[in-house]
Amino acid sequence: MDITLPDRVTGKRYNTQNAYLKARFGKKTVKVSLNGGFSCPNIDGTKGVGGCTYCSARGSGDFGGDLEKSIAEQFAAVKSSLERKWGTDLLYIPYFQANTNTYAPLDKLKRLFGEALSQENAVGLAVSTRPDCISEKTADYLAELSRQTYLTVELGLQTVHDITAEKINRCHTYADFLHGYGVLKERGINVCVHIINGLPGENREMMLETVRKISTLDIHAVKIHLLHIIRGTVLAEQFLRGEFSEMSMEDYIETVCDQLELLPQNVIIERLTGDGDKSSLIAPLWSRDKKSVLNGIDKELRRRGTVQGDRFVKA
Ligand code: SF4
Repeated sequence: MDITLPDRVTGKRYNTQNAYLKARFGKKTVKVSLNGGFSCPNIDGTKGVGGCTYCSARGSGDFGGDLEKSIAEQFAAVKSSLERKWGTDLLYIPYFQANTNTYAPLDKLKRLFGEALSQENAVGLAVSTRPDCISEKTADYLAELSRQTYLTVELGLQTVHDITAEKINRCHTYADFLHGYGVLKERGINVCVHIINGLPGENREMMLETVRKISTLDIHAVKIHLLHIIRGTVLAEQFLRGEFSEMSMEDYIETVCDQLELLPQNVIIERLTGDGDKSSLIAPLWSRDKKSVLNGIDKELRRRGTVQGDRFVKA
């Protein structure tokens, strides 16, 4: 889909998911977070124990649906709250976010994903997972879904630096990510890459290197997330002991603008901040004002006179 930046309607200098979905489906299309009751191999001991150091009690899916309810009930509940905000003329993309959503037997995936896709006005599916958690069989099934609907598989990479991955107990390497990415790409599946800025020990150059490397791949979308320090996590203990410091808002905005300039213009930007449970957020507290962060990014790109892709270098 061709895009021209800055966007004529929104004035945005990057390829927003909102605009992409509207162009693709003809009307406002929103994600519906659902909870399929999945676990995670980095929590149950298969890959690691304790999980990633920043992982919240809800498997880093703080807006996932209510596990007590069926998929159809969760969908209906989220849909009605979205309708209160956006009106009723909407299309939906069910989104399995919490924990590792391919970490289950194939028949469970088929049942849950099939039920989600059968909801009224569901025009696609988004599945978030770890890159080391996609078997060939699962990938074959996802490829089948991808031929039927608009499927995006979100791979949690966070950083290309194995030294950082080790620090945050990620329990997979960049090479593992490339393998998982390859298994999906060779089947023509859209991949969204999730990265985090502000991880312990990382400076701006390291964060930019992560984006430079993923820019050489054929990715569909990216989510750039600010590291949230959440009460009750290992990361929070490390932070309170002074082992690392939080990113300032100014540093975050400049880093994100640099990253947007490095990304190819066709990559969809699904997120540029973090959405989490504000009540358990220890730091950075400035991130609670999401609007200021997004406005700050817009303002900085305007000041620079640049748009997404201006510094993209083809491999
Ligand atoms: S992979 Fe996701 S769900 Fe699993 S421990 Fe890490 S952040 Fe939590």
